[in-house]
Parts: sequence; structure tokens; C-alpha cells
Amino acid sequence: MLNSSRLPEDFLIQAEMPPDSSVIIAFFPFKDEKKGQRIAPFALKNHYKEIIRRLKQSVREAGSPFSDYSKKELRFFSNSPFPEKELAVAAGLGFRGRNTLLITTEYGSRGLLGGMIIPSPLEELSFQAGISGKISCGSCRLCEEACPGGALKNYRLNRDLCLQDWTTREGSIPDSLKDVWGQRIYGCTICQDCCPWNRKSGQGNVIDLGVIDPEPPLEFYLTHSCKDIKKEFKGTALGMSWIKGEHLQRNAILSSYHTPGQIDQNRAEIEGFCDSEDEGIRDAARWVLDQSGQSGN
Ligand code: SF4
Ligand code: SF4
Repeated sequence: MLNSSRLPEDFLIQAEMPPDSSVIIAFFPFKDEKKGQRIAPFALKNHYKEIIRRLKQSVREAGSPFSDYSKKELRFFSNSPFPEKELAVAAGLGFRGRNTLLITTEYGSRGLLGGMIIPSPLEELSFQAGISGKISCGSCRLCEEACPGGALKNYRLNRDLCLQDWTTREGSIPDSLKDVWGQRIYGCTICQDCCPWNRKSGQGNVIDLGVIDPEPPLEFYLTHSCKDIKKEFKGTALGMSWIKGEHLQRNAILSSYHTPGQIDQNRAEIEGFCDSEDEGIRDAARWVLDQSGQSGN
């Protein structure tokens, strides 16, 4: 929990926080279960919705003063434009790793952040998770070395080179990233999979909200409209507003290049995408056909 006096000025302006308000920021650890190559494990269930649900539940259970606020007065957020990681570090939940993520000593980085803005000053609390200024990445550089796009350097992320970022970004994916795209349709966790802090994690919440098949058939994305793809994922993490059917279809086209035999199976559909109105889809289809012509994939 943080009072407005300790919050970054940018955040106060961005969140339009009334004077003397407070923020509660929470880390919601989840347990990685089934793993596939196409959908990142964190998106196989709707953890975004779950963390908001639990924050609301905690407000109801906490009673006064939380339950005295109206629905409009309490604002909840998760995966928001707010600087959630900075807030979490300031609240003592963990430290910022070279992969730029929040790392907790107990659960590593396997979790999501969420929080709420409270329109009054509350006594400041800091979660005692054994975090001190001495805990850091030290000489480890595993995430920098493992990142396929070369997006990590000196504790900074170059979003233009990050596969995770590009899975939900508009437009044509850079050719250097198409080469290393792999079979993914949504998400990248390579810089977390290699992190020693995540080796000892393994505990965390197991939920049943918005379950997605970890190895969905590519045909689905290549033979349905973007609207139908989006509809299919209603209520799941892929149904969130920042993920469009166009993104998933474009990603599936690239995934088909990295999936043996897939282009031959769906060549007609991929050729059809070369005339798509969506720039990213059009570009991906042309690149895949061009490359497969050269490599005989
Ligand atoms: S999410 Fe993937 S591409 Fe992005 S920084 Fe991590 S390893 Fe690199
Ligand atoms: S992989 Fe190493 S350098 Fe990267 S975040 Fe984890 S501990 Fe830090």
C-alpha cells in the first residue's frame, strides 16, 4: 500500500488521483501448468480477470473504510498503462530484474500485478517479503542471452525487438523477428523460463477461469474471420480488449511457417491473406510464401 506522497508524479497525473489518495498493489502468483508452444502459459487462464475479482472480494471482506466507498470511487487495474512494476517495487513486493519484470523472492516473476486506487490516505504498509537493496540479478545475464530478439540490455527492454510486445501490436512484424517467431500465437516467456528465480517457484494459484487449449490447431486461425477468432476467446485472456483477432491471425500465419507441413496444408488460405485489408496479415502472408518458396518449407 502506498500513499500519494510516495507515488511517482507521472502516475499521479496519469491516474488523475485526488490529493491524499492511496494505492494498493498486489502480486498474484500463478502456477504454470500445461505448456504449449503457441499460447504463453500465463494466458492459458484468465488471470487478469481473476486478480480484479480477488481485489474486489478483499474490499468486501475488509469492511470499513474500503466497503464505504462507492463503485466509482474505487478504481481497479491490472495490465494497465500505469507503472505497475514501479509501484510494486516501491511497495516492497520485489525487485526489478534485467528482464525488466518484477521478481519476488518467493514466486520469481510468475504472476501478474493488479491494484486499486483508494480516494483517501491510508496507513502505509509494506509487504515483508525479505526484499532488500542487496537482492538483485548480480552477474547473471541469462535473460539477455536467451532473448531471441535481442530486446534486453542494461535492465531495459527495447519493445521494437520484443516478441511478446509484437504479439499484440499493430502492423508488420520486423523481418528479424519473423525469423525467430517460432510457433507462438500469443506471448513469449523465454526471459522468464531461463531465470533462476523462477526455478524455485512452482507454487501459486490454480484457477479455472477462461481455460484455453495450450496447443490450438492452427487451421482454426487460418480458416476463420478475425471477428470469429475474437468471438471464440470471449471470457479468456485472449478476449482482453488489447488483443485483436487480426493480431492472432497474423501471428498464426507466421506460426505456420515454423510448423512443419503447415504451409502445404493451408497454402490456399495463406495466398488469400496476401490481399487482406490488414497490413500485418498481408505482410506476414507474403513473407511466409516468399520464404517457403526459397526454402521449400
Ligand atoms: S518476452 Fe521474449 S522477446 Fe520479449 S524480452 Fe522476453 S525473451 Fe525477449
Ligand atoms: S535471468 Fe538472471 S539476469 Fe535475468 S532477470 Fe533472472 S536473475 Fe536477472
